Amino acid sequence: MSENAMDVVVVGGGHAGLEAAAAAARLGLQVALVTLQAAAVGRMSCNPAIGGIGKGQLAREIDALGGWMGLITDAAGIQFRMLNTSKGRAVQSPRAQCDRKGYERVAQEMVAAQAGLTVVEGEVVDLLWAGAPRRCAGVVLADGRQIAAQAVILTTGTFLNGVLHTGLTTIPGGRAGEAGAARLGASLRALGFPTASMKTGTPPRLAADSVDYTVMLEQQGDAQPLPFSFLTDALLQPQISCWQTTTTTKTQDIVRENLHLAPMYAGRIEGKGPRYCPSLEDKVVRFAERHAHNIFLEPEGYDSELLYANGISTSLPLAVQQQFVRTCVGMENARIVQAGYAVEYTHVAPRCLLRTLEARDFPGLYLAGQICGTSGYEEAAAQGLMAGLNAALAIQGKAPLVLGRHQAYIGVLIDDLVVSDPSEPYRMFTSRAEHRLLLRQDNADIRLTAIAAAVGASSAERDRRVENRVLAMAQMRARLESMAIPGEPQHGGPKRTLLDIFKRPQDGGWQKVLELAPQLQALGMPQRDWESLEADVMYAGYAKRQQAWVERGAAREETLIPSSFVYQQVRGLGAEAVHTLTASRPATLGAAGRLAGVTPADIALLEITLVKAARRIAAAEEL
Ligand SMILES: Cc1cc2nc3c(=O)[nH]c(=O)nc-3n(C[C@H](O)[C@H](O)[C@H](O)COP(=O)(O)OP(=O)(O)OC[C@H]3O[C@@H](n4cnc5c(N)ncnc54)[C@H](O)[C@@H]3O)c2cc1C
Repeated sequence: MSENAMDVVVVGGGHAGLEAAAAAARLGLQVALVTLQAAAVGRMSCNPAIGGIGKGQLAREIDALGGWMGLITDAAGIQFRMLNTSKGRAVQSPRAQCDRKGYERVAQEMVAAQAGLTVVEGEVVDLLWAGAPRRCAGVVLADGRQIAAQAVILTTGTFLNGVLHTGLTTIPGGRAGEAGAARLGASLRALGFPTASMKTGTPPRLAADSVDYTVMLEQQGDAQPLPFSFLTDALLQPQISCWQTTTTTKTQDIVRENLHLAPMYAGRIEGKGPRYCPSLEDKVVRFAERHAHNIFLEPEGYDSELLYANGISTSLPLAVQQQFVRTCVGMENARIVQAGYAVEYTHVAPRCLLRTLEARDFPGLYLAGQICGTSGYEEAAAQGLMAGLNAALAIQGKAPLVLGRHQAYIGVLIDDLVVSDPSEPYRMFTSRAEHRLLLRQDNADIRLTAIAAAVGASSAERDRRVENRVLAMAQMRARLESMAIPGEPQHGGPKRTLLDIFKRPQDGGWQKVLELAPQLQALGMPQRDWESLEADVMYAGYAKRQQAWVERGAAREETLIPSSFVYQQVRGLGAEAVHTLTASRPATLGAAGRLAGVTPADIALLEITLVKAARRIAAAEEL
């Protein structure tokens, strides 16, 4: 197929673009991935790490739906850790430090091996439109080339009108060393897309041989690392350590004295940055009472000479960065190889998108990733995957794939985006998912692989693995239920079984079961299955209640609100809710409940009023 007649064009080769292009190609379509630099496909713009709280769940879900992020991470990871292990399994999240170059290499190898996927180097400056009603019909490149397509997916990250800031110096660019994409930004604005400015930043990279590790805290990987992908059996690569240190009061003094040179504080940047990932300047101002802030020095690869200085993201001038870096513990002789900087960029308000990530008023055009106001590789990849699948399904004339909030973190992410329009870069957390006890990282395959299979996005190998896992866990559950706890004294009640051990965390979990019944070891059930079984039993009560809530929610979701409804008539409804609901006029209670500023209590009051009104109408009709 020629380069200028494709099924799908994906603009951007970052984490969203990669998953979008791969997903559409896996569904059998011809896909062009157009990107500014072919050699930068899969590049990690900031921290070379995948996962973390909430993000690890997203990465596991992407994998369960057939995406690539987990496989690339397993191949390129240099340190794997499960976070939150002192807490319940529902909020435990995997994280992997990656070899930055290795990640790109593996991603590009997978692109090269994927049938139907072609990489085109170039800058997209405009979109093509055709038909009545009009549909997006392809892209125009800066050199005049055109690529026709039935769907276009924009995943341009931080490149739309990107400006890089170091001190008071600004240069146009999408990230260090790469030009931005101003012309496409102008095209989108001309089409009427609602856009706004955001910013994010990155810390300096240090020479690995210039810091004193002996005064730092070593952070090792897990002894038994858990792979990200459900297709990976074991991680055999050696793991390397990260190092923890801190800033000092001298660091704060230097930052404080130079705040007038920081673009945010000098009024040079208007866009909002991620609150949960503040720059060192922000930390010094916002947490003035703290004398030290943690820094995690993370190697950028097995052979890399670079350390990523996690925790001191900054856009102060290089000379000031050099000064403050050398006041941090163990960094007295540190050399900065690459300065930290901030990037300010344009994003498109995601309220203009449908849940398929197709633009509401622009059929055939999809948006995914940081362009939609998110931050992070996993959030970008999750949207890319869904946009790629939905673009392909639409072309094939099939029903879209939209995940509910109770089905996946990906459902939470997209719902949050399209309903409440982030005012700062959106990052996933476990606390955003109200059904998080059901949405664990360990059961992402059991929750989602069948859904992927139904739209043709899984593989025979994935399906087989999930089936085997579900079967093995069911058989073990039945076995444990039939085995009384050996030696436990009876107190008149029914005998407790080995399965009952999972119901109380203090009873010792699956390790205790194997201690009491070592013969079960011979069955060879892997640790991840033991952990999932244990969590299923432990959370069974919650799961039942949440399921009932979800089912009630489904009815509530569809309860219609008349378009003429007067919200002031609802007794007790808060002023903010009245204002928001009157302005937004949601069609259903479900949509009302997702509006920012409308609380579950408001929804309960609204529901009662609607039910009473429906009863009054029914009674009047009977007369
Ligand atoms: C300086 C910096 C600091 C960051 N800090 C953090 C952080 O602290 N925490 C965090 O979670 N995330 C951070 N990020 C964000 C993280 O890197 C992104 O969220 C993630 O990479 C977004 O993925 P994406 O696929 O949406 O876009 P990107 O990875 O940015 O990829 C965009 C792609 O689009 C291509 N492209 C753009 N415009 C065009 C065009 N017109 N034509 C053709 N191709 C085009 C580019 O070449 C690139 O391949 C940071 C990013 C940067 C740049």
